[in-house]
Amino acid sequence: MSGFPYFDYRGNELYAESVSLSQIARMFGTPCYVYSCTALTHTYQAFDAAFAGRDHLICYAVKANSNIAILNLLSRLGSGFDIVSGGELQRVIKAGGDPQKTVFSGVGKSSEEIRMALAADILCFNVESEAELIVINQIASEMDKIASVSLRINPDVDAKTHPYISTGLKENKFGIPINDAERIYTSSQELTNIHFTGMDCHIGSQLTELDPFKQASNRILSLLDRLEAKGIAVDHLDLGGGLGIRYAEETPPSIEEYVTSLCASADQCNKRILIEPGRSLVGNSGLLLTKIEYLKHTPDKNFAIVDAAMNDLMRPALYDAYHEILPVNKNQGKDEFYQIVGPICETGDFLGHDRKLSLVKGDLLAVMSAGAYGMSMSSNYNTRPRAAEVMVEGENIHLIRERETINQLIATEKILP
Ligand SMILES: *Cc1c(COP(=O)(O)O)cnc(C)c1O
Repeated sequence: MSGFPYFDYRGNELYAESVSLSQIARMFGTPCYVYSCTALTHTYQAFDAAFAGRDHLICYAVKANSNIAILNLLSRLGSGFDIVSGGELQRVIKAGGDPQKTVFSGVGKSSEEIRMALAADILCFNVESEAELIVINQIASEMDKIASVSLRINPDVDAKTHPYISTGLKENKFGIPINDAERIYTSSQELTNIHFTGMDCHIGSQLTELDPFKQASNRILSLLDRLEAKGIAVDHLDLGGGLGIRYAEETPPSIEEYVTSLCASADQCNKRILIEPGRSLVGNSGLLLTKIEYLKHTPDKNFAIVDAAMNDLMRPALYDAYHEILPVNKNQGKDEFYQIVGPICETGDFLGHDRKLSLVKGDLLAVMSAGAYGMSMSSNYNTRPRAAEVMVEGENIHLIRERETINQLIATEKILP
């Protein structure tokens, strides 16, 4: 058993649904991201079902994995989207997603991005500062539009996660301080091209406990009460994303427990609930397939040098994140402790430390839980073309992104005349 229901062993070989990973490597080469369509579908449906008929909209956080095949699949399941750039909006539109189900977050929206979003008639802007509110009002007035706005509140709650992905503390750059929000909602009624339709918060990512979510929603809900007492009403409550997944030993709440708890917190208010899950929707629906180029045994360490690197999967280098690493073909050899490292010229270029495995040069490895913040954070460092992406559905294999070529990489560069 692999521990990953949609990526499991048949005999000694690891499969994605009904397709062997060795076959994918033969067809498309490595490194290669492999996603399970069924895993994604079931995960989305688990979120949807957990709302149990309550008025809701799931806005998938596009930045977790922005491949248009994934956006299209989620859109067909009924999903909306949470975007953080004009580029992501264009992806949503290209994928057939509905701008009317799309919310736009982010602290630094440019005028051009705001214009693009107004032209597309998105559901709302999640506004993160007073200055942004004024710019949106100005641009909307120039375009003769009314901008729907939700204020992103910073509730000052400790999400108890990695500091780089904690976003709801008062010292973080995100959102409007909760103590300023009431004044802004009331004093901005004269911004004639703004219509307040919601209130939102997002306190961080990879949260493995419910308590911070409860604290945040309680603060948001009491703010909502205070506003309603002043005659200011909004239509929806957006409780953000952030639910953690199991990479190793974590025991995050289930999707059902999480959604049920959010709904219970919001029980007394009769508003539509939005959530913005990213990692918890796609994280365990994908893996990174890589091949061992060399084994290197030194007096201190054993290294397995693989063809995937920190440019393909940045999370270990960036957050010291743990990803399970499984052999695609189990052999009967003796286990040793290996450092699983890439070819990039940085000591931070590793995928795993001290992994107990029996390895042979040329073997394939699967870096698990790589569906979220994997491909979307990848780069071309060391002039490495980005990996191919493949979606498996039962026994069907779809190439959803071709491997990049070196020519594509340098096509826009110019030598001085
Ligand atoms: C990144 C982000 C999300 C998604 O977070 P996950 O932890 O991947 O669920 C949701 N909302 C906003 C505003 C974000 O920045």
